[in-house]
Amino acid sequence: MHIAIIGAGAATVGLLDALAVSEAEGAEVTVFEPGTNLWRGRPYGPDLDSVLVNAPPAIMSVRGSDSGHYAAWLGPERAAAHLDELLGQPLVPRARYGEYLAETAEAALARLRARGWRTRVVASRVTAVAGDGSRLRVGSADGREHPADQVVLCVGVGTPQDHYGLRGAPGFAGDPYPLAGTLGGVPGEADVAVIGSGLTAVDVVVSLAARGHAGRIALVSRSGMLPAVWQRPLGHQRRHLTVERVEALRRERGAVTLDDLAGQLRAELEAAGEDLAPFTRELLSAASEPPVERLRRQLAAVGDPAIARRALQEAAHIVGPLAWRLLPEPDRERLRRHTRLATGVASPMVPVNAAALLRLFESGQLSVVAGVRKIEAARGGFRVRGDGGDLDVDVAVNAVNAPPHAVPGAAEPLVTALLAEGRAALHPTGGLVPADPRLHVLGDLAGGGSFITSSIPGLAAQAGRLAGALTG
Ligand SMILES: Cc1cc2nc3c(=O)[nH]c(=O)nc-3n(C[C@H](O)[C@H](O)[C@H](O)COP(=O)(O)OP(=O)(O)OC[C@H]3O[C@@H](n4cnc5c(N)ncnc54)[C@H](O)[C@@H]3O)c2cc1C
Repeated sequence: MHIAIIGAGAATVGLLDALAVSEAEGAEVTVFEPGTNLWRGRPYGPDLDSVLVNAPPAIMSVRGSDSGHYAAWLGPERAAAHLDELLGQPLVPRARYGEYLAETAEAALARLRARGWRTRVVASRVTAVAGDGSRLRVGSADGREHPADQVVLCVGVGTPQDHYGLRGAPGFAGDPYPLAGTLGGVPGEADVAVIGSGLTAVDVVVSLAARGHAGRIALVSRSGMLPAVWQRPLGHQRRHLTVERVEALRRERGAVTLDDLAGQLRAELEAAGEDLAPFTRELLSAASEPPVERLRRQLAAVGDPAIARRALQEAAHIVGPLAWRLLPEPDRERLRRHTRLATGVASPMVPVNAAALLRLFESGQLSVVAGVRKIEAARGGFRVRGDGGDLDVDVAVNAVNAPPHAVPGAAEPLVTALLAEGRAALHPTGGLVPADPRLHVLGDLAGGGSFITSSIPGLAAQAGRLAGALTG
């Protein structure tokens, strides 16, 4: 059997590792990747040291069957050198995490070869998958065709969207990463608008501060809502809001509703002596509480022993992908109305970044501008037009991430070809659904998934299941 994997980011590393730890003998695998950051994908290439991973080691393991795999790679010395005092956990620069991905991938390929597999990496972009009844042919941009029996798309997510049509305007950075390059072009005294207020925006602000930026910085967005702040892990084991309970509910009733999930969360909290109602009120207050006050309050609650937010955050990544597909459409729509809040709870900012932001807010250098309606290039800079008036800045850095399911630019010709040949279809809510049983999609492009971007444990779990299916 010949497996072709398109893209070489974290999802592919998880898949190769899962294939390597399986017992499958003597097949062939070819990985296609045109980029220079082999195995690191978009997030984990070389960049500034201020660009950190967003999660503690237990949930950065790319091996789905071993949550300690990354912590073991990191080792006690490196862990101590990167300790986030507030979180009580090591948080390394994302480029360093990229080394873990690269070493894991190379080790997996070596292990496969030792078991008789043939492995190959082709440094080219895939533009088509064609084929007849027996075999598929993977076409690459260098004009060659490669035979395959199974094809896995691991092409990641798209680059930030240009909501305000600023591409080409002097002083506009359309894609912030790597920040080492983008921020190198920002004059130290410039007033900067960071477009967005999610984790990418936090990366930009923290990295500007780390470079000693002296100009004013504004986080400009429609909601003005910041991500929540990570709480110190307590090792709490969920017993109710779990994959097993959701699967049992599906078996019993054929469907799972949002009320069912709320019931599981209520049971989880009651077992820990906590109430759902005040937690829900606290969550929903994100829409009205001033963002700096909320940040200060959440930073003070990093060590709070209540499990509610930790349980919901973890479940969003572990239970969420399964539950989302079982929910009736009106329940999904209810959740979509809270996309910003849900994303901020599922993927919070790390405390060291929250503390940096709070210092900048308190010094007056950083502000949040909500209710933004328009940003336009004006007089050598930019004018941000919002509900509260206008703001003029010199530089605008785009930090609005593409929604999950967006087709990355490098994969557009491939997706167009798959759709044209009827080998895949677009899901009505976004993403790609294979119509050919030999085709698979791993990661955010997979059709019908939730609006929460895949995290490493989510990708690793999917990769493990797919490796099992591929090797029978
Ligand atoms: C900035 C950022 C930071 C993140 N930080 C964290 C974090 O700290 N913790 C966490 O759990 N999650 C994080 N995530 C979420 C998740 O871990 C990453 O999105 C993850 O790396 C996704 O991996 P991937 O392999 O699906 O996609 P990618 O990493 O994007 O890799 C896809 C690869 O496919 C290649 N490709 C695309 N089209 C083609 C083609 N046609 N032919 C061949 N190759 C192609 C691309 O060049 C790319 O290398 C982050 C996401 C982003 C965007």
